[in-house]
Amino acid sequence: MMSQGIVTVSYIIATILFILALGGLSNQETARRGNWYGVIGMTIALLATILGVVERHYEILFVALLIGGSIGVILARRVQMTQMPELVAVLHSLVGAAAVAVGYASFMDPGRLSHFSGVELTIHDIETYLGVLIGAVTFSGSVIAFGKLSGRISGKPLTLPGRHFFNLGLLLGAIWFGREFVLQSAIGSGMEPLIIMTVIALLFGIHMVMAIGGADMPVVVSMLNSYSGWAAAATGFMLGNDLLIVTGALVGSSGAILSYIMCRAMNRKFIAVIAGGFGTSGGTSASSDSDEDQGEVAPIDVHETAALLAGAKEVMIIPGYGMAVAQAQHTVYEITKALRAKKINVRFGIHPVAGRMPGHMNVLLAEAKVPYDIVFEMDEINVNFPEVDVSIVIGANDIVNPSALTDPDSPIAGMPVLECWKGKASIVLKRSMATGYAGVQNPLFFKDNTRMLFGDAKETLDEVLKVL
Ligand code: NDP
Repeated sequence: MMSQGIVTVSYIIATILFILALGGLSNQETARRGNWYGVIGMTIALLATILGVVERHYEILFVALLIGGSIGVILARRVQMTQMPELVAVLHSLVGAAAVAVGYASFMDPGRLSHFSGVELTIHDIETYLGVLIGAVTFSGSVIAFGKLSGRISGKPLTLPGRHFFNLGLLLGAIWFGREFVLQSAIGSGMEPLIIMTVIALLFGIHMVMAIGGADMPVVVSMLNSYSGWAAAATGFMLGNDLLIVTGALVGSSGAILSYIMCRAMNRKFIAVIAGGFGTSGGTSASSDSDEDQGEVAPIDVHETAALLAGAKEVMIIPGYGMAVAQAQHTVYEITKALRAKKINVRFGIHPVAGRMPGHMNVLLAEAKVPYDIVFEMDEINVNFPEVDVSIVIGANDIVNPSALTDPDSPIAGMPVLECWKGKASIVLKRSMATGYAGVQNPLFFKDNTRMLFGDAKETLDEVLKVL
C-alpha cells in the first residue's frame, strides 16, 4: 500500500497535468500534447487511487476495470467521428449515474452515523443530496441528448404549456425534500425524500433537454459536460477525495465557459437556452420550413465547378457537418493545394457550431494537415465575403442560412452565420434538398448567385480534383 504522502504528491502532479492538458487543448498546435498530459495525469491518478486509497476487495475493482475498460476500448475503436457527440453524451450520462450510485452508497453506508455527527453529518448529507441531484439531472439529460443527437428523438423542442412553472415546481420540490432528507437522516431515516428527489431530478433532466430546439444542442452538450464535472466534484466531496473534487471542478468550470462561448457564438442568452424552446415555434415557421415559393435552384456540374474555381482569385471554403459525413477533408486539402499552386488565395471560414461538436471542423482540417494560417473564425472572415469570387460550401446548411438574420420566426433566428451570399458566387455541395440539423429550409440555395452541386461531397470533390 502506497503511503498517504505519496498519494497526495501523485494527486498534485495529476492535477497539474490536467490543467496543462486543458491549456494544451485550447490551441490546435498544442492539442496533441495536451491530450498526452491528460492521459499521463489520469494514469497517475488511477495508480495512486488503486495503490494508495483502495484497501481491500481488489478482485472486484479489477473485474470492474476490466469490464469498463474493455467496453471503452471497443466503443472508441468502433465509433465514427460523426458519432463522437453521441458517445460524449453517453459518457456524461455515466458520470451522472456514477454520482447517483456513490450518493446512495454513501447514504446507505452503515458506518455513516458513527463517522459523522452534528454539523458534519448535516454537511455530509447536503453533499450526498446535491451529488445525487446533479448526477440524476446529468444522467437523464444526457440520455435525452444522446437520443436527440443520434436522431432517435425528434430535434424539435417540446413546449409543454406552463413549462416554466413546471420547472419551478420541480426546483421547489427538490429544495423541500432536501430539507426533509437532512432532518430525517439525523434520526436514521431519509431514504424516502432521497428517492422522491431522484425522480424529480430525473424528470427535470428529461424536460430540460426535451425543451431545447435542435440548433441549440451545442450549448446543451457543453452544459451537460459542465454538469458531469460538478457531479464528479460532488462525488469527490462525498468520498473525501481531493483529486476528484479538483478534476470535477476543472471539467465543470471549463464546460461552463464553453457553454458561455457557444451561447455568445449563437447569439443566445444562456438562461433562455436552459429554460428551453428559445425563440422558436418548433421549426414550424412557414417561410423557412418549406421550399414551395422560394423558386428554383440552379444545379452545376463538376466541370463547371472546376472551371469557376480555377478562374477565381479569392476562394472561401466553408465546411459543415456533411464534410465530416463524407470524410472529404483530405480531398478538400488536395483541391486547396491545387488552387494555391495556381496562385489562387484559398481561405477556410469556420462557424463555431459547424458539425456536431465544438471544434469539429478544426479537428478534421488538422487531421488533413490544412495549415492553420488559412483557417479563419467566422468573426474574422465575415467582412471579407464581398471580395470573395467563389465560396464553396461543403455539406454545410444551417451555418450559411440567411434566414437566421432575416426571419425572426426561424428556430435559428439571431444566430450569426457565414454570409457567403455576399460574395460573387457560392457553390453548395450536398446530396439533396434536405434540411440541416435545425430542420429549416435554406434560402441561400435559391439565390441567383448560388449553384448546387448535388452528390456525396467526397465523390464530387474527387471528380472536381481530377478535372482541376
Ligand atoms: P447541418 O446539419 O445544418 O447541414 C449539414 C448538411 O450536410 C445537410 O444539409 C446534408 O444535406 C449535408 N450532407 C450530409 N451528408 C453529406 C454528404 N455525405 N455529402 C454532402 N453533403 C452531406 O450542418 P452545419 O454544419 O451547417 O450546422 C451544424 C448544425 O448542427 C447547427 O444547426 C448546429 O446548431 C447543430 N449542432 C452543432 C453541434 C456542435 O457542437 N457543433 C452539436 C449539436 C448540434 P443532404 O442530406 O442533402 O446531403
